[in-house]
Amino acid sequence: MYIFKTVQDLQHYIRTQKKQTKKIGLVPTMGALHLGHLSLIQRAFQDCDLVVCSIFVNPTQFGDAEDLEKYPRPIESDIEKLEKIGCSALFLPDVTEVYPKDLISPTFDLSGLDKTMEGAHRPGHFAGVVEVVHRLLDIAQPDCLYMGQKDYQQFAIIKHMLGLMNSSIQLVRVPIVREEDGLAMSSRNVRLSPEGRIKAQLISQMLFEAKKHAIHMSLEEVKQQALAFINQHQLEVDYFTIIDGDSLEIIDSFDKATIVTACTTVRVDGVRLLDNIILRESI
Ligand code: AMP
Repeated sequence: MYIFKTVQDLQHYIRTQKKQTKKIGLVPTMGALHLGHLSLIQRAFQDCDLVVCSIFVNPTQFGDAEDLEKYPRPIESDIEKLEKIGCSALFLPDVTEVYPKDLISPTFDLSGLDKTMEGAHRPGHFAGVVEVVHRLLDIAQPDCLYMGQKDYQQFAIIKHMLGLMNSSIQLVRVPIVREEDGLAMSSRNVRLSPEGRIKAQLISQMLFEAKKHAIHMSLEEVKQQALAFINQHQLEVDYFTIIDGDSLEIIDSFDKATIVTACTTVRVDGVRLLDNIILRESI
């Protein structure tokens, strides 16, 4: 696997590959890689000749300097995992490569997509995400971009951004990879105590139940059942919402959207755990 630390080196590699009409996939990450991240790379290889994974802990999407500092950076083991899975190239830039002094990042009208759910709890977060993804796309010029359903709102916002850019980049949503007990894999999971780790199973349990209920109940009933579950287990929920999976608007009936998604963030041991499930999707 090639490892590039500069924009120039990565671009030289990509230009050479493109001349040979190679199709390029990009998988942006912040490292501390787990099987969820690796599934994006595997998915990318289904469509692409080569896959570039980036590892960059983006400062502009962190509200809290301490969170940014504490973000895990196990780079040696990340490289090992990427090599093992056969990733073509790793882009491992430092902050000055991604954000040189003279860089002017465009701003996008996110039409309020960035204000609900995670956006309401993390002001400025999605502006930072959009900034870094736009920059990485500009640097790598991939044919396809792979992002996880795990960060549902992030996916919807990047889709919106690509639409505004009239971009031909194909955005692929990759399903959530879960632990055996259902907990969505996340680099935050290691911060859970043993008791917290057990409690955290309840999040996916709640979502799986909601999906089952969605087969025969109205949306309002599904919501009531979930709220009862939250109360019964005393989950510390930042939000539990059922939304139109494209516009992210809260809906009150299944027939109001082609994709209906339940999104939640639950605090366990003070760790914010995000999860979601697609309740219904009409093809
Ligand atoms: P991060 O390093 O947390 O910024 O995540 C990088 C990418 O991996 C994002 O597109 C995430 O949505 C995706 N991702 C994170 N966790 C999972 C998971 N459990 N399953 C699938 N994709 C994931």
